[in-house]
Amino acid sequence: MPDLKRIDLHVHSTGSDGTYTPTQLVALAQESGLGAFALTDHDSISGVREAVYAACGTNVEIVPGLELSCEYQGKEIHMLGFYIDPEDETLQKQLDTFRYLREERNKKMVSLLAAEGFDITYDALLAENPDRIITRGNIAKYLVDHGCVKSRKLVFDRYLGDDCRCFVPRDKISATDAIRLIHDAKGAAFLAHPLRYHMSLENVKKFLFFLKDFGLDGVEAIYTSHQPDDERNLKSIARDADLMISGGSDFHGDNKPQIRMGYGAGKLFVPYEILLPIRNRADRISETSKPNGVD
Ligand code: AMP
Ligand code: MN
Ligand code: MN
Ligand code: MN
Repeated sequence: MPDLKRIDLHVHSTGSDGTYTPTQLVALAQESGLGAFALTDHDSISGVREAVYAACGTNVEIVPGLELSCEYQGKEIHMLGFYIDPEDETLQKQLDTFRYLREERNKKMVSLLAAEGFDITYDALLAENPDRIITRGNIAKYLVDHGCVKSRKLVFDRYLGDDCRCFVPRDKISATDAIRLIHDAKGAAFLAHPLRYHMSLENVKKFLFFLKDFGLDGVEAIYTSHQPDDERNLKSIARDADLMISGGSDFHGDNKPQIRMGYGAGKLFVPYEILLPIRNRADRISETSKPNGVD
């Protein structure tokens, strides 16, 4: 009989732009009957230890992960890392650099928003987001919560969307470097939500074959916004390219209230059985990866 246990391999906590703490996510996973979830905060592994600790003695398995922002041909791409080693020093240093660059960029975006007449300062934004990676999502929430802008959609349509007046681009690593960084940290690398990059299916396929040559392990074929056709097409490409598949909701708590952990918009189902090959792959990567600090 197939294992009908449900998992979710794409979940954000307060370590980035989610509204649940890692501990609260574990409780929610238990209530929702999830067998496992991957904590995949944006460019951060700060919540992983807390999640692992909170899950001790429960039936919920934690996949230590992250979602790296990177770039391919001028587009922002997201790469998921599963079973990364949260103690890996190279990864920690790289994430520190990302954090610094983000802070500098956030300061610039806040200045531009203040110049528009909104009552926002960088310090006030920090005060509402302690110990967090602050993304445009957090800035949008601040503007809505403080009555500066009516809705999150309006914030992105007018001010913070790509190429809008208060948007500042960010220096990113390449998609192929993101794969290497994840592998060096002993994790398996999966392309996140491949249909969100405004590419035709044909170009998504080419992109996946290209990344496969650089060691890509898999693709997020199961995802909240996918229609049944999308999932079928991506699974078929994955088979052709010899890639594994992952699946997740992209849960952000109240920041994306239409998405439920493990259930997405209602129809999402990610079976537990897809986790086993991912874990095996990460084990193999871990065996061949170089020890910390040695080139
Ligand atoms: P950042 O990494 O700072 O560029 O911010 C990325 C985050 O901003 C995403 O995870 C989303 O939460 C949010 N975001 C970006 N673009 C949009 C958009 N057009 N509509 C709604 N949210 C968006
Ligand atoms: Mn996000
Ligand atoms: Mn993403
Ligand atoms: Mn995400």
